[in-house]
Amino acid sequence: MERTMYPLDPKEMPTAWYNILPDLPQPLPPERHPVTKEPCPLDMPLPPPLFPDAINKQEFSKERYIEIPEEVQSIYRLWRPTPLYRAHRLEKALSTPAKIFYKYEGVSPAGSHKPNTAVAQAYYAKKEGFKRLATETGAGQWGSALAMGAMFFGLELKVYMVRVSYNQKPYRRMLMETWGAQCVPSPSPDTEVGRRILKENPDSTGSLGIAISEAIEDAFAHDDTKYSIGSVTNHVLLHQTIVGEECRKQMEMADAYPDIIVGCIGGGSNFAGQFLPWIRDKISGAKPDLRVICAEPQACPSLTKGPYTWDYGDEAGLAPILKMYTLGHTFVPPPVHAGGLRYHGMAPIICHLYKLGLVEARAEHQLATFKAGVTFARTEGIISAPEPNHAIKVVIDEALACKESGEAKTILLAHSGHGHFDLAAYDEYLSGRLKDYEYPEEKVKEALASLPQIT
Ligand SMILES: *Cc1c(COP(=O)(O)O)cnc(C)c1O
Repeated sequence: MERTMYPLDPKEMPTAWYNILPDLPQPLPPERHPVTKEPCPLDMPLPPPLFPDAINKQEFSKERYIEIPEEVQSIYRLWRPTPLYRAHRLEKALSTPAKIFYKYEGVSPAGSHKPNTAVAQAYYAKKEGFKRLATETGAGQWGSALAMGAMFFGLELKVYMVRVSYNQKPYRRMLMETWGAQCVPSPSPDTEVGRRILKENPDSTGSLGIAISEAIEDAFAHDDTKYSIGSVTNHVLLHQTIVGEECRKQMEMADAYPDIIVGCIGGGSNFAGQFLPWIRDKISGAKPDLRVICAEPQACPSLTKGPYTWDYGDEAGLAPILKMYTLGHTFVPPPVHAGGLRYHGMAPIICHLYKLGLVEARAEHQLATFKAGVTFARTEGIISAPEPNHAIKVVIDEALACKESGEAKTILLAHSGHGHFDLAAYDEYLSGRLKDYEYPEEKVKEALASLPQIT
């Protein structure tokens, strides 16, 4: 019998997150304060009111492994360790000699990888005595994950949800409300930033940048509230490394080591969570040929088309200034269904590794990603979210390249979540109504004109 699943014994679940910072070949550029634009001191990397102290410490920690608190581990164990599969049926359909594996984060109660950091962030806020969290969400995966995290620790939560997704994806709002959170469409009339943008453009479809500004403004306005972010920052990537740490043990069970690791990147957290625990082997020289490929949408191609420069993490310039490949913090991406990939910038850690030539990037069109997603559903059974469909498209291309060359490479897919709340998008695709969006070059040019001036 072919082995298709590599379940990890719960006793084997890793009990520490992996921090790449001490292993980077060159140090990461420091974050800069949004107002002074000066580099933030390493012991206080982010503006103090934003995050709990424990999170601030993790953001630029020098420790290679950071213990996962027992309370967080116990919640992780509700769905972790997550399964690793061998995609025999997809391989067969493609007639490829490649061995395809995928690590599946869709088994969490929220349906994605996002609870890995949501639970941790809610835990630290609660531990430091805060009562309430404020956050943004794109397609709603982050909002729903944090709604669940906040629920476990008895915290209130307000979620500012990008308006295009709020309208396209009502089910994720219902998830948030069922877990007890409040969810409003962003731009909203509840914040100054939201009111300003609605006045300028009453039909604004919103963007993650705008929603982040609203959530930060909310947190600044309430003493009992902390802001929580679903991607991009170092501490979020750190919390996601449970994925790659587990996967290393599972690939060992399969007696395999990846030649290529593929994942989708919105802010970069799910994929970094998978590949950071592997890329240390490339940095150390143990696996010089390991390839890491980031998949992003053509409609919002920060790594493949953006300049590497300083930019705000959010629309209004309240969040720290980060060195990243960016399309400009005022850029509003076209409303592709992969809402989680509609972010103007990218995690500084991924940008740094891309700049150093340690990871590659590819931009994909929406229609091709849905075609790949349907192929995956019709072979492996799993109906994937539009975001991981970008990675599946790249995996299929790489597997077909193996068929051409006759090489039996081992490909590992970081599968970030299911698409059960994205079925309307599949319906559009299957009925021929789904369309591609060209790269909005003019709008990016405009947005890049408003980058902060850093000397
Ligand atoms: C949010 C999300 C993404 C994109 O965010 P990253 O931080 O880049 O991982 C990708 N896939 C799914 C399923 C998501 O929910």
